[in-house]
Amino acid sequence: MSNVTPDNAQKPKSKGTLLRIETAGDIPMDKLERIAAKFAQHYEIPSYRLKIEPKPALVGGFIIYYHGDRYDYSVKGQLGRISAFIKRTRADSFKVTDTFDHKKEDKPLRNEDGEIPDSELFSVKEVRKDIEEALALFPETSGPSLDNAELWQLDDAEFDRRVEEALSSSEMIDEIGTVNAVSDGVATVTGLRHCMSDELITFSSGATGIAMNLEKTKVGVVILTGEDTVVEGMSCKRTMTTVEVPVGNGLLGRVVDPLGRPIDGKGMVRYVDTRPVESPAPGVTDRSEVNTPLQTGITAIDALTPIGRGQRELIIGDRQTGKTAIAIDTILNQKGKDIICVYVAIGQKMSTIVSTANLLSRKGALDYTVIVAASASDSAAMQYIAPFSACAIAEKFMYDYHKDVLIVYDDLSKHAQAYRAISLLLRRPPGREAYPGDVFYLHSRLLERSAKLSEELGGGSITALPIVETLGNDISAYIPTNVISITDGQIYLSPELFFSGQRPAINVGLSVSRVGGAAQTKAVKKVAGPLRISLAQAREMASFSQFGSDLDENTQLQIKRGTVLNEVLKQEQFKPWTMSEEVFILYIATTDKMNFLAKEDINEFVFAFVDDTWDLHQNIFDTITDEGVLSDQIKADIDSAYEDFKGRFLEEHTEYQEED
Ligand code: ATP
Ligand code: MG
Repeated sequence: MSNVTPDNAQKPKSKGTLLRIETAGDIPMDKLERIAAKFAQHYEIPSYRLKIEPKPALVGGFIIYYHGDRYDYSVKGQLGRISAFIKRTRADSFKVTDTFDHKKEDKPLRNEDGEIPDSELFSVKEVRKDIEEALALFPETSGPSLDNAELWQLDDAEFDRRVEEALSSSEMIDEIGTVNAVSDGVATVTGLRHCMSDELITFSSGATGIAMNLEKTKVGVVILTGEDTVVEGMSCKRTMTTVEVPVGNGLLGRVVDPLGRPIDGKGMVRYVDTRPVESPAPGVTDRSEVNTPLQTGITAIDALTPIGRGQRELIIGDRQTGKTAIAIDTILNQKGKDIICVYVAIGQKMSTIVSTANLLSRKGALDYTVIVAASASDSAAMQYIAPFSACAIAEKFMYDYHKDVLIVYDDLSKHAQAYRAISLLLRRPPGREAYPGDVFYLHSRLLERSAKLSEELGGGSITALPIVETLGNDISAYIPTNVISITDGQIYLSPELFFSGQRPAINVGLSVSRVGGAAQTKAVKKVAGPLRISLAQAREMASFSQFGSDLDENTQLQIKRGTVLNEVLKQEQFKPWTMSEEVFILYIATTDKMNFLAKEDINEFVFAFVDDTWDLHQNIFDTITDEGVLSDQIKADIDSAYEDFKGRFLEEHTEYQEED
């Protein structure tokens, strides 16, 4: 097969491929040469040069470097593999505590006798089996290890047999590369010949990175962690996997970074499973149509741009127009509705993230929420993978636990900027607004992962609320138009409305929901019907009325209606309405029942009337909630409650009596 014999191996040739062997110094020279010869034979190396370097840090055994690969038969390497194995399987030991199911939340792990039932013990047995396997794989004296003193005493035939056995095992082979250059969080690496796109690369300092640019002779690695430890000349190796994050119930109530590491100081995250951050979106047959509403508690949204479970609705607007407020209110409104929320903060100040987490915790919403945070001070790579890993966390709940999940990406403009930074550092050609050409694909592959799953797959959904910040009201900029075209509708917030006190500052004319209507409750649909038209008419008339001439009665009525509706749609933060309250309010607002009021009193009237009705006619709300429709009977009930309440209201507010 090969012309290499132990004889010519003893006299290393000056020509040929370099075989570099690092040894701890415990191996006799003749054995080393024998091993090298055997190695050359195994890999069919016709001629080679042998270079032997002492390296006491290996403890025992040796490492062969050949053609960019590392063949590690050292004690150090073996310990590393055992520790990696244990780390990999360690997650399983959490299975016992992580069987916590949302529906049977209060089921204790131990039974009355204080014992863990057999069904729960299953996972403990698994771990034990794994450890046995690990020990069988890496025993001290047997197996393919070539690092013990006893080995050097063996006769040649037996020694060759053992070496051959070890060489046949692929366990010890790593594909390693060398860092050629590193700057601004991007390392250029040579030697990783078979590297895959998006593969996780580990550096010898422990730093990690993602292989993003594959070129003929080099790979561009974007560094995720330990950026400052990576230096030129350092070695790195392939891991054969992509980036994965821990997923499962253990993440609920936690604040984690995009790699799933806790940053809330509450100790380690308990997890069962990991998921790759990038995974394909469900196909057409895996989905069902959007048909269940996701109640935001914000009247303007639930009535005019309803959101269904599995929908993607964009929240778009200038800075400081209440974008985050809408998303947070929506999360708060999911309390007790068996919906899991994931909030992804990308490129925000750490102080903002902390106050959001504290707010959710104070309002009791953190129990069903996961916060994934990549702050402005995190590397661009971390900000880039944040929404993808959050989506992986959400997917676990959808695919495996069949939950409805709400995910908020706050915000995708900063995400696109982080991606632009990475792309420019990788020297990819810049396109419009200096974004790379695939920035559309970046967001479409992310948002396509939201879906409502079919019955066959067990249901479950991911509803996405991506947020995009515009500059100077410009929704025709690159990122806004991209994301508008990917999503199923947008809620457009305008700074003019916000500063004129119309909050939430939803611009009703520019906001749409393309699929949510199908999911809207019948009762809401009925009262919301006249709403959009009335608001549009009022807007048109209001612009005429600015000319100040006398207005006919019909015009005045339309303007008044608009005023009432706009007042009714105003809503403070953290003051969600229930579905039945929304129906109730919109019914009285669209039937001219509040036209007699001055603008300033409308809100007070609404609040007082709702409170009063809860006290005196609770059945109205209960019936709307139960039946989901606005029957004639309910309308009559509301009408009579209204007459009754109005009478009392007028008694208290004498200023209206004179006008009447
Ligand atoms: P940024 O661009 O900084 O992310 P944003 O668009 O997310 O801002 P928010 O942070 O949600 O805006 O809100 C800006 C301010 O407006 C906050 O102080 C918030 O309390 C206030 N605000 C938002 N919505 C309402 C509301 N409905 N009623 C009263 N105040 C509100
Ligand atoms: Mg915000």
